Amino acid sequence: FARLKAGLAKTRDNIVESFTDVFGASHIDDDFYENLEETFIMADMGYETTEKVIEGLKQKVEDSHIKEPAACKELVINIIKNQMSVDDSAYDFENKKSVVLVIGVNGVGKTTTIGKLAAQYRQRGKKVLMAAADTFRAAAIDQLKTWADRAQVDIISHNEGADPAAVVYDAVAAAKARDTDILLVDTAGRLHNKKNLMDELAKMRRIITRDYPEANVEALIVLDGTTGQNALEQARQFSNVTELDGIVITKLDGTAKGGIAIAIQAELDVPVKFIGVGEKIGDLQRFDPQEYVNALFA
Ligand code: GDP
Repeated sequence: FARLKAGLAKTRDNIVESFTDVFGASHIDDDFYENLEETFIMADMGYETTEKVIEGLKQKVEDSHIKEPAACKELVINIIKNQMSVDDSAYDFENKKSVVLVIGVNGVGKTTTIGKLAAQYRQRGKKVLMAAADTFRAAAIDQLKTWADRAQVDIISHNEGADPAAVVYDAVAAAKARDTDILLVDTAGRLHNKKNLMDELAKMRRIITRDYPEANVEALIVLDGTTGQNALEQARQFSNVTELDGIVITKLDGTAKGGIAIAIQAELDVPVKFIGVGEKIGDLQRFDPQEYVNALFA
């Protein structure tokens, strides 16, 4: 929890400072609600989620005849937590053979996240394999190889320009032969080329379900937390292209707008699974909504 708090320091510092002002006010009036709203918008919690939280608070204040701003802080924190509860029981690549299709546009931290995930699961005694199915750029393949070395896991790759489905085909064969627990597939995130992307991902899924029916297939989307509401929009667009099972939000250490994770969790029907709070191999944490809210606000 201390590491999470440290990772989110930029957002937390801003929020804590403005919470001191907001909840230190003498009356619950329009100014109070406006200042609270401003704090959430500033942290990129998004308009929709912010409005819901403010409305929820107004209702509670009225129902419980609360007069003191200071008494609202706990209420607010609990209302936010309630906004974020998502059933994530379906998402579990720990106990079954799994293939994780990792998607997201260039630069969001996809390769880094795959490297971090590989290292985490290997450390827990899982057999991990990577597949370099983003064959669009040679650099992407090389970068993934570097992370495979770092995480000390095997990687299946072809040359630049190869058919991504062919990489997946080979990777599935290797995963079966080597009794791999988790196969992490890097994919090209060309969102501007929706039709191709859709076909490519569908083809990969077909190969996996045909050749590896015993495995669980998950699609994990990686979003850059520093891009704020754009990240939310990207997730929406990708969900039109393929089914999404989980979200990773990266670079939350580099922004004062960490409220974006709350907006994403509250507004999409897909659970945030992991968050990136640094560039190093250990800087990926499991996302726990309750803990996250505590780290930002409490
Ligand atoms: P890709 O193009 O999506 O594969 O992105 P990369 O994995 O190459 O990452 C792009 C940049 O973001 C690199 O400089 C990474 O070190 C950086 N990065 C990735 N995740 C994080 C994170 O959680 N925090 C910070 N501060 N930087 C990150």
